[in-house]
Amino acid sequence: MKKIFVATTNNHKIEEIRRILGDLKIEIEQSPKKIDVEEDGKTFMENSVKKSYYYGNTLGAPVIADDSGLVIDYLGGFPGVMSARFLEGKSYEEKMKEILKKLNGANDRSARFVCVASFYDPIEGVLISAEGVIEGKIADEIKGNGGFGYDPIFIPEGYDKTFGELGEEVKRKISHRSRAFRKLFSILFKVREI
Ligand code: IMP
Repeated sequence: MKKIFVATTNNHKIEEIRRILGDLKIEIEQSPKKIDVEEDGKTFMENSVKKSYYYGNTLGAPVIADDSGLVIDYLGGFPGVMSARFLEGKSYEEKMKEILKKLNGANDRSARFVCVASFYDPIEGVLISAEGVIEGKIADEIKGNGGFGYDPIFIPEGYDKTFGELGEEVKRKISHRSRAFRKLFSILFKVREI
């Protein structure tokens, strides 16, 4: 079984990726070191590649990293790459209320969650990225307490409930992160034995 480090300090993310991987013969482990990487890119791709590159070169081993966020059309893509840092220090309840305020009276509530997952192997010099997207819209109010972050205001396409109400099972099947990682691993399995 091959071992790959994940560039994160977030246990929730490791568990989520493990569930996405299912029974694929890959073992993932949290990075043994926290490396400060400034996520100052203008795109999810830039930040995801940067994280995998810094972690991979520091650890001297293959790593996977991701960057994700919520993109709202009416707000010109906001919060996008700023999703985690928007109203930093405030709770997600407050962040979501602020977003709902900004969308008050909006005729377009379309939005999407985007994730770019990257694999970098510093030994063989291989870098592969894959993007996953789930389209949807912003709800009129905060609903449900499942998931994390902006889940309680996001209604995925084909459903009439928020990710906060739908729960983990649905998210594992259709989420941006799940799509990005499944795409990434299917490419990896096709081009090499990881
Ligand atoms: P990062 O990819 O760990 O940098 O996280 C980016 C931020 O985007 C998170 O802190 C959340 O605010 C938001 N985000 C990313 N994915 C999700 C999700 O699946 N549900 C809710 N919020 C998310």
